[in-house]
Amino acid sequence: MTEFEKQPSGAWGEEARAAVERAVRLATEVLGCPSARVILGAPAPQDPAGPTDEGTCTVAVALSSGDPVGVLEASLPAGRDRAATQQGLDAIAQGLSAELHGLASREIAAQRVRDLETALEAMDQAIVMVDASGAIAVMNARAGQWLDQPLSLQVPEEGAVEDALGPRVLEAHHPDGQVFEVRSHVLPDGTTVQTYLDVTARRQAEQAMAESEARYRLLAENTSDIVALTNETGEASYVSPAAAALLATPVEALLGPAFVEAVHAGDRQALANARNRALASAEPVRVEYRMRRAAGGWLWVEAQLRRAEPDQEGGRPLLVQAIRDVSDRRAAMAAMRAAADAKSEFLATMSHEIRSPLNAILGFTQLLAEGEGLDALQRDRVKRLEIAGENLLAIVNDILDFSALDAGAVSLDRMPFDLRHWLERTLALVERAAAEKGLTLCTEVDPTLPGRLEGDDRRLGQVLLNLVGNAVKFTRRGEVSVSVSRTAENGRDMVLCTVRDTGIGIPADKLGHVFQRFAQADGSVSREFGGSGLGLAIVSRLVALIGGTVGVESRVGEGSRFWFSFPLEEATSVAPPGRPPVEALPTTAQRVLVVDDIEMNRVLAGAMLRAAGHEVVEVESGAEALSQLLRRPFDVVLMDVQMPVMDGVEATRRIRALPPPINVIPVVAMTAAVLTEQVAALKAAGLDDHLAKPFRREEILQMVARWSQRGPVTVGAPPQEEVPASPATLEREVFRQLLTLIGPQTLQRMLGQFAERLAQLGGWLPGASEAPDYPEELTALVHQLVSSSGMLGFAALSQALRRLEEAMRTGEHEHTALAEAEARLAEVRGLVAEPLEVLAAA
Ligand code: ADP
Repeated sequence: MTEFEKQPSGAWGEEARAAVERAVRLATEVLGCPSARVILGAPAPQDPAGPTDEGTCTVAVALSSGDPVGVLEASLPAGRDRAATQQGLDAIAQGLSAELHGLASREIAAQRVRDLETALEAMDQAIVMVDASGAIAVMNARAGQWLDQPLSLQVPEEGAVEDALGPRVLEAHHPDGQVFEVRSHVLPDGTTVQTYLDVTARRQAEQAMAESEARYRLLAENTSDIVALTNETGEASYVSPAAAALLATPVEALLGPAFVEAVHAGDRQALANARNRALASAEPVRVEYRMRRAAGGWLWVEAQLRRAEPDQEGGRPLLVQAIRDVSDRRAAMAAMRAAADAKSEFLATMSHEIRSPLNAILGFTQLLAEGEGLDALQRDRVKRLEIAGENLLAIVNDILDFSALDAGAVSLDRMPFDLRHWLERTLALVERAAAEKGLTLCTEVDPTLPGRLEGDDRRLGQVLLNLVGNAVKFTRRGEVSVSVSRTAENGRDMVLCTVRDTGIGIPADKLGHVFQRFAQADGSVSREFGGSGLGLAIVSRLVALIGGTVGVESRVGEGSRFWFSFPLEEATSVAPPGRPPVEALPTTAQRVLVVDDIEMNRVLAGAMLRAAGHEVVEVESGAEALSQLLRRPFDVVLMDVQMPVMDGVEATRRIRALPPPINVIPVVAMTAAVLTEQVAALKAAGLDDHLAKPFRREEILQMVARWSQRGPVTVGAPPQEEVPASPATLEREVFRQLLTLIGPQTLQRMLGQFAERLAQLGGWLPGASEAPDYPEELTALVHQLVSSSGMLGFAALSQALRRLEEAMRTGEHEHTALAEAEARLAEVRGLVAEPLEVLAAA
């Protein structure tokens, strides 16, 4: 009987069972034991020879020596010696052990083969074993799949990599595109083991990678832009060959910190800022800088910086820079700017060239119109000539203004001005035109607006005049009204000027364009009303420059409303509200120092001041003024500005550098320069105030009074009221005052000097306009005569000379001014020859 506690299964189980049965049979049939059994898996007997019980013998069955797997147990045959039976059973157990051992070893070997086969079949690689005779000994399923054309794969290709020490490795290409890495290993018995690994995907990926890298490299290496890879401090790890071409520098010489060193020192900070910005954002950052050329000089480049992801985690940040040569572009832009400048210059020159003869035409037309002996028809023709000439001049002026604004060549003045006076002065210029058309001109000013503002009243006047001029031009009947009020823009206080008319209006589709240059509502409008179409373009540019806004509303047939705004800035200087009558001025005697190189001015100023009770010292130069001031105390200095050697501005600077209290003495400029920018320059130089020459008695007395009654010093220009143009050649009242002030003798002497200067001027003027430049002596003479003729009472000549002085300075209206000055000069020269009494007579 056989018992298996652990049943072996499969083939080995069957054979083991048969072996056990054979051992049992041997024990029963050969040894004659009445019963026997094998218990596999039972513990080995403690004492193999010892009886387990009466009549039973037990022996261990082992698989290998000392490795018991069970016991053989049998009962004693009747009458048999126990030891002999034990011996027999031992021999049977040993036989069974040997047989079981053999069976187990075979089973293990078979299992190994089975495992190997499973592994081979599961492998991703194909494996083939070819024995020395060339027969395939082993081949897994994948080999069967792949090696349908085994020969092509087994023949090593040329160029296959072969390692002398290790297996041969070669790459085989299957006709269907698969790529295998084949490793061959030759065993000592001549058997070759070959493994095939499908590397198609790997090779494809490698190839794709190589191709894309090649493409990028091709791009980087062949674009005309420099491609550089830098870190956050600008050190380059890659620079494309374009650098060599653009900078004539070998690429290697730009790697590392050399890249930053090649950047112009003045641009490095901008580049560093750009790097930081690019690193902080995903957006590319542009920057322009200069790079050194090996041959010398700098190349302007524009770089686009973009952050690149670092190679590995924790790697340093990288920046890709695409750098482009922009020197041509910069040169083109400079050329464009130069061309624009040239255009403006051309326009300015041409306008000037056109204006000069035009001024002559206008000047002589005026003289012709004022002259005697024209009949009505001729007068009408001259009038037309004058109007056409004026229109032409206006157009040329517009072109000049527009080109100056376009070139950014217009700067603004900042001076205090009287708002209501500014409005009146500006509207006075269109009063006649409005009256001729029967239009009502009305104004309205918000009473809460300050009286004195600060700004460029001349430019503001130009804007307002343009709008009011248009309103009058495009209105056939009704009214033109101007209102000035307060408004606010972006939280800023502004002045709003609105010009309304009851004119032809502007069609809605044209309204959007009227502020563009050369925009006219339509051809018929320009034919009927004239104009260049530049006026509103100038207005909108000027208003933008001033810091305001401009707009329009209009309805065809009903009228238009144009408005513009400018910053409301109240004048900080406090000026006397009005001119007190001379009698009302304080009579406290003041010590006044009068400085002027022209005797007549000195004497006149001195006489006027003395007559009012002031104490006056007259000196003729800046240097003398300084020495007088150091010698004795004064209350106020009246200082001429244009003087030889040391002019008034320099003298004032030196006074300000003297020890206190002399340095704080009020210094009032006496000058015929009344342009706002000139006055501003004087104030900047330290002059406290300004008295325009020629001055009247009230003016000089008021000025002295103002600076002598200083409580808190109030600084500011006196209101610039224009002396109304007097048609009279000689203002007899002024002349008579002078006569009483300085007496006939001094006056006669002065008239003599004056007549000499007039003769000098008479010699200069006729040829003046032909000379390329006005000689300095002429400008100086005109300047002097502006004041002296005014002081003597020749107001019309003084005004004509002032206009001439301005025309010579600006080049505008020169011919008109020259013609007018010549005419006035002739009149005055005729008069000066008269005896004093005749002149003074009413
Ligand atoms: P222009 O020199 O032709 O007057 P502007 O630039 O001053 O040039 O004006 C442009 C155009 O706008 C004018 O030609 C006219 O058609 C229109 N325009 C301007 N102001 C008025 C207005 N107050 N009423 C009607 N049309 C106007």
